[in-house]
Amino acid sequence: MADIAVELDERAGIQQFLETLASEELALASMPLNRFVASRVKRLLPKAAELIELRLGGACAIVCRRHGRSLTSIEGMLDRSTTWPYEDGDPGEFYYQRYAHPAGAAAEQALGELEGGHALLFPSGAGATTALLLAFLEPGKTVALAQDAYYGTGVLMRSLERWGLKLVEFDQTGPPPEGADLVWVESPSNPLLTLPDLAAAVAQPAPVVVDATASTPVYLRALEQGANFILHSATKFLGGHSDVLLGAVVSRDRGAYERLLEFRGRTGIVAAPDAAWLLGRSLQTLDVRMERHTASARELARRLDAHEAVEQVRYPGFGGLMSFDVAGGAEAARRVETSVRTITNATSLGGTHSLLETRARWEGDRVPENLVRLSVGLEDVELLWADLEQALG
Ligand code: PLP
Repeated sequence: MADIAVELDERAGIQQFLETLASEELALASMPLNRFVASRVKRLLPKAAELIELRLGGACAIVCRRHGRSLTSIEGMLDRSTTWPYEDGDPGEFYYQRYAHPAGAAAEQALGELEGGHALLFPSGAGATTALLLAFLEPGKTVALAQDAYYGTGVLMRSLERWGLKLVEFDQTGPPPEGADLVWVESPSNPLLTLPDLAAAVAQPAPVVVDATASTPVYLRALEQGANFILHSATKFLGGHSDVLLGAVVSRDRGAYERLLEFRGRTGIVAAPDAAWLLGRSLQTLDVRMERHTASARELARRLDAHEAVEQVRYPGFGGLMSFDVAGGAEAARRVETSVRTITNATSLGGTHSLLETRARWEGDRVPENLVRLSVGLEDVELLWADLEQALG
């Protein structure tokens, strides 16, 4: 009885806590609880729920009941802590967020398993590229970059030339030039969709990076083919919902992984827990999403190829990324991008919603002026085709 009296005295605090919970119910699975609050709430919630249900209504009662039953969740709770208590006086697995955090470690574990290596997350694909270059190269070293790799990768590398990086570009469908210190290919390239000659790349002595953003580990496990590093803009298919900016590097070599891990911790080019948590969520559906992206993209590529207003389709036969050239030049391509309705005229790729844009606006004459890049989403393929058909006129 005395016990219950003490608990009732704590009603105000509990009520305030539950109001917050109710307003955040949709984010319930990701709600962080520190240990102190968690232990008190676990003990008090079943009774508090009965009391407050009458006053605050249904939504709160649902929250209370769920939490009264269990403080864990299927997805695992998102821990946003920047610091964790030492264990018996020493740092444990997690002690300061810049070095590692639980959501990051979980997503890295999952991605590492998919790729067959050790994964590290970065705040974007460009951040992952920067970290990789700076951690493994030094002034005077040369990168051989696939000439039709994502244009931003070339822009980034050129911006590092003033720090002493040397850049040569090559046609990735053949062997890389001799004498490079790092070879960088993209499979398939964005947006020209060429595939690298990976056998030729790994036959030369320099380490090889494969940007597998558009392939994902569902269609390419480049480490098994001798690549040293895989790079992902996880913003794209891995994240898969156009709601998270992230990058990743995966390697097999433990020493390389540790060097990059140390560099990441020192430079602070680290992914935030929220982003990492979203990636962990998304990886669970990666294979089913990629199957659907591929099935729809194959069908659209086939139909576009037969359409009289389309001059050329580039599609490697897998994945959700393709590009096509619209007959009639830049103006005709612009009409297509401004006419789509189901598909959104926007940049980026890899999400559930189909996106389309002309690329010359960004890349200039690296690409044909009438090239339209299409990221095929998860919508009904007939709806997508109807939209493309009306946009092509
Ligand atoms: N690699 C490829 C193939 C990309 O398409 C992109 C972005 O579009 C990047 C890297 C850079 O990734 P992020 O935008 O996540 O920095």
